[in-house]
Amino acid sequence: MVECGNLRDGSEMGNAPADPARFELGGCTVTLLSGGSLKLDGGAMFGLIPKALWSRTTPADDLNRIHLNCNCLLVEWAGESARRLIVETGHGPKYDAREQKIFAINPEDWLLPALEAAGVDAATVTDVVVTHLHFDHAGGLTCVRDGRLVPTFPNARVHVQRREFEDARLGFGVMTQTYREESYLPIDEVNGWSLCDGDAEVAPGVRPLLTAGHTRGHQSLIIEGRDRGMIFTGDVMPTRNHVGQPYNMAYDLFPLDNQDSKRRVLALAAERDWLLALDHDPETPIVRVVPDGEYFALETESAAPGG
Ligand SMILES: [Zn+2]
Repeated sequence: MVECGNLRDGSEMGNAPADPARFELGGCTVTLLSGGSLKLDGGAMFGLIPKALWSRTTPADDLNRIHLNCNCLLVEWAGESARRLIVETGHGPKYDAREQKIFAINPEDWLLPALEAAGVDAATVTDVVVTHLHFDHAGGLTCVRDGRLVPTFPNARVHVQRREFEDARLGFGVMTQTYREESYLPIDEVNGWSLCDGDAEVAPGVRPLLTAGHTRGHQSLIIEGRDRGMIFTGDVMPTRNHVGQPYNMAYDLFPLDNQDSKRRVLALAAERDWLLALDHDPETPIVRVVPDGEYFALETESAAPGG
């Protein structure tokens, strides 16, 4: 278990990039931040797809695990706005030696050091949106400071679907270890939850899009600037290699619903030429969507010059 305070020393910044990629959407800037990385079983990540197919694009290690990032976003507005929003919090720092080994998690490489390396004080974050509350998305909501479990973003409202919030408390799912009390209790104590029912607006141009399937209360997030939009997909499509219609994860509770949600996200992004931000893609986290016959294909998108 790593304490938050330990990470302020620049020598312990883990793998946080010093110069993160930025995307200008018009009056609103999105910065890509690392919420750490982990390894999960490749078979579980690709559901019914045979290894002979998925391993062509995604190599597995000798334990059959594949490397995944936990990509997070920082959204900031130009001018007077005092809002500063984080999308997704990655796996966070709270893992014992056994879990660090199973998931190949470095507990010093998570969202907070990446945010600080980008020059942002966590206390200035006003809003955090998580797509769902599985450990590799909500783990960064809390950390240990002075021996106490505390919210990582002490002044932020945490936005999540009410359905997901309730299912997390019930442990509704097929993975028994993925909803973890330590990610929620400190948020309860400061009364920091903002629960959404379906689509809503959480900040100017920022709207959750209910994309059920991975979980019942899973949401993606639309970030719309003056010139362009972006959708943070969440686990509806964790990497670019999950774009194909049957590419569900074994973790998806409702695979057909997830396929519908994925098609909806792809169609919306293709129609408006919006960017997609992929939560677990280690190489091309930001992509464009183009129509391809009856379905869609992805193209990579890099940060703006100077970003
Ligand atoms: Zn998940």
